[in-house]
Amino acid sequence: MADKSSKKTTTADETSTAAPTPTPAATPAAPRPDHEAPSGADFYQIHSTQLEQAFKVANTPERVRTILRQPKNELITNFPVRMDDGSYRLFKGYRIQHNNILGPFKGGLRYHWNVSLDEVKALAAIMTYKCALLEVPFGGGKGGIKVDAHTLSRDEMERVTRRFTHALGNNIGPDYDIPAPDMGTNSQVMNWMMDTYINTVNTSQKNANLAIVTGKTLSAGGTLGRTKATGQGIVYCIQEWAAERGFDLDGATIAIQGFGNVGSHSAHILSKHGCVLTAVNDHTGTIINPQGINPRKLMEWVEKHGGVKGYPGAESVSRDAFWAAEADIFIPAALELQITPEIARTIKTRVIVEGANGPSHLGVDEILEGRGIDMLPDLLANAGGVVVSYFEWIQNKRFESWDLEEVDAKLLARMKKAYQGVRKFAAEHGCTRRQAALALAINRIARVYDDRGIFP
Ligand code: NAD
Repeated sequence: MADKSSKKTTTADETSTAAPTPTPAATPAAPRPDHEAPSGADFYQIHSTQLEQAFKVANTPERVRTILRQPKNELITNFPVRMDDGSYRLFKGYRIQHNNILGPFKGGLRYHWNVSLDEVKALAAIMTYKCALLEVPFGGGKGGIKVDAHTLSRDEMERVTRRFTHALGNNIGPDYDIPAPDMGTNSQVMNWMMDTYINTVNTSQKNANLAIVTGKTLSAGGTLGRTKATGQGIVYCIQEWAAERGFDLDGATIAIQGFGNVGSHSAHILSKHGCVLTAVNDHTGTIINPQGINPRKLMEWVEKHGGVKGYPGAESVSRDAFWAAEADIFIPAALELQITPEIARTIKTRVIVEGANGPSHLGVDEILEGRGIDMLPDLLANAGGVVVSYFEWIQNKRFESWDLEEVDAKLLARMKKAYQGVRKFAAEHGCTRRQAALALAINRIARVYDDRGIFP
């Protein structure tokens, strides 16, 4: 835990708001993880079990359970792409549309070698509940391509993205299904998707279709605050938690798994509140420095070297040492199924904040609760991304542009409301915050099915 007597002060570059986001295609090839990758089938199974638990808590009608147990549409496409050396490679892309009773399907696009149908199905369902919980008028979707993004050149990344967008065709649309960045993709990838899509519509309709994706760069129709949005939402959640527990964030230590968009922006913003980053694990290695790692400098290192490995301001340690490290706040912000029951039994922390989607195994919440450790689940903690995506979508639709203060204030209001709603529901129903978040979301969806009825 943090030694409050040895508080760190933020350095000048940590207070800068213009934080870079690592660009996957620009980074040199990096080695694949040397440990076993999470199984998509296990992930889907765990999600389904959590859903059934929440159905019970929410007393969900059987007809709604039946609908929500499976996605509405599952699209798999194999498409060829010309590589830089002149050869052609076939890629497998997925888009899963889970539910759209609350609004257009919405969810990220993942480029990772471990992408599978089951993984994307679980992630799409999580999006449905996240949007419902945050009262964003979107449904849930998710997509991905099975590819190691680090091995593609920038040109190959562009051709893969444009060809996949073309293959998706009318299966996406600004009022139908709206992709966004996720692991291995970023604002540049979103720009290419948008540009490809709007070049397939009537000339007179081009500007009306800017909202086909969110997470674009500002110049291409993005919004201020989107790049850091998920990290910002995580920090707003942590601030609510700190207020609830009477915990002083100034001098608190943080450990983060994954130092991409979510992990790096969480660390950077938390450092402005006086938190000290002491341990980071990513796909290239683990670094530890109890005296503090400068998030801004680490972002620059990762941008240049493709991962945290070799960062000079910290000691390189084993992956196990990451989970054995002590920190007030742990933020998993990489892949799913990282926190096992064994880790939950030994981890030395006060709160786990799920930046990643589905980073915890079944049983983890109960073990942590027994040890007096709080868990802020993914549906709540990492919802900042989709909330600000919604703001970007509104701005595109209305041809508006909001300033950063407006975006942040609106995000804060939604995160606070969702946090307090989950807290209250969990207290009233005697359930975990994960069950509370899911049950609240399911209740909102069930109400719409009640009001509208089920066709025919
Ligand atoms: P990213 O591609 O920017 O970064 C991913 C990070 O995970 C990298 O640091 C990478 O090194 C690390 N990583 C990959 N494999 C790993 C492994 N086996 N072990 C340890 N680290 C590994 O992705 P991101 O956008 O930051 O997304 C991270 C997580 O947050 C994902 O679960 C994603 O679904 C979730 N999320 C992202 C957003 C968003 O707005 N980008 C929103 C909500 C949730």
